[in-house]
Amino acid sequence: MRLSRYFLPTLKETPAEAQIASHRLMLRAGMIRQGAAGIYSWLPLGQRVLKKIEQIVREEQDRAGALEVLMPTIQSAELWMESGRYDDYGKEMLRIEDRHGRAMLYGPTNEEMITDIFRREVRSYRDLPKNLYHIQWKFRDEIRPRFGVMRGREFLMKDAYSFDLTAEDGVNSYNAMFVAYLRTFARLGLKAIPMQADTGPIGGDLSHEFLVIADTGESEVYFEESFTTMSAPEALDTDSAGLQAIVDSWTTPYAATEEKYDPATCPVSSEKLIKGRGIEVGHIFFFGEKYSAPMNATVQGPDGDTVTVQMGSYGIGVSRLVGAIIEASHDDNGIIWPESVAPFRVGLLNLGTKSEECTSFCDTLYNDLQAAGIEVLYDDTSAGAGAKFANMDLIGLPWQIAVGPRGLQNGVVELKNRATGEKVELNPLDALAKLK
Ligand code: ATP
Ligand code: MG
Ligand code: MG
Ligand code: MG
Repeated sequence: MRLSRYFLPTLKETPAEAQIASHRLMLRAGMIRQGAAGIYSWLPLGQRVLKKIEQIVREEQDRAGALEVLMPTIQSAELWMESGRYDDYGKEMLRIEDRHGRAMLYGPTNEEMITDIFRREVRSYRDLPKNLYHIQWKFRDEIRPRFGVMRGREFLMKDAYSFDLTAEDGVNSYNAMFVAYLRTFARLGLKAIPMQADTGPIGGDLSHEFLVIADTGESEVYFEESFTTMSAPEALDTDSAGLQAIVDSWTTPYAATEEKYDPATCPVSSEKLIKGRGIEVGHIFFFGEKYSAPMNATVQGPDGDTVTVQMGSYGIGVSRLVGAIIEASHDDNGIIWPESVAPFRVGLLNLGTKSEECTSFCDTLYNDLQAAGIEVLYDDTSAGAGAKFANMDLIGLPWQIAVGPRGLQNGVVELKNRATGEKVELNPLDALAKLK
């Protein structure tokens, strides 16, 4: 992509309304613009990151055996009356009346809708287990939308729903999602710690929140220091005992959010306990019959009897993750994208746009990079070198290749790693080889 043809409205000034780094940087890097409180448009650079995160989330859901669907954003209130949540949900639910006076709502989550789909189609235990997910916009009329996309009112969530015959099978589905989450967050370059959590309005028995540790997190968290050295599981085709073993290893060290933390019962000595703040990026629940019983989601069991299915639900805040990744990875100059979610892998800077030779050299290198399948943002504008470097640092692409007339005389370009700041002068072919 040529910057001269792109839409990248970066800001030099720090926007006054932004209180935390990720919000500031997303505005400054031209990723988002606010439409109304907690409601954002995603501009091209932001949209690319959002799509990359979404794709990693999708791949790990698919790998865990979940099946992608797409449910609507607008729901009928009837199902929520059936489950009993229509009144309970309160003001966070955006209620809408259509022209016929029917009660509708903008979905804040989809337990009711998926349970309805399931009960209408699935009749036999032979069709279980099933796990259905979608990646769809949600609306919650948050009392205090803030921190940009971290606490939006409209936000993108991946939500999955599992259906099993027995509680034991249900726990296995829960474990599969638990492991998928560990893998997902690791691929996003994040360290997310699973913590015992309150089940809140979704309800249920077994629940973990996944939190990214960051000073700007909204939750106070307590965790054993051993988490800091744990790394996500590789395991793919794991059976239920294997899944349980991974879950056990990640739930044995102590970790809890402030609602669950109790100094009187905490088993960890204070030297080994870290107190910090965390951003909730995912939340998984096993809640058994909470929705299937009131909504009559049953199947015929092996003995011909009618069995109420066991359910769980599993959320990831896809749009919140954009902010969380920036909170975890930035410096004074701007964002530092992990390679896996970077909007482009390489920024190519032409520092000699007035020189025909330098420009044609950059054009060729741009084509070569693209031909090698490398995503590149090519700054071909007439801005000065200082402004170009500052802009590239701000938008945080993992690699920068700067090409100037002086270097070219010696046959070299400068390759910079955004994360380490390390710069090397290389012949362009070597630079290309290094990036392949
Ligand atoms: P929070 O405690 O931050 O209000 P929640 O517990 O209400 O979140 P869940 O119902 O568990 O949220 O939804 C699943 C995931 O959706 C959360 O873990 C979070 O990552 C994301 N999420 C929830 N609310 C928002 C929001 N207002 N803006 C962006 N992401 C959100
Ligand atoms: Mg909430
Ligand atoms: Mg929460
Ligand atoms: Mg939650």
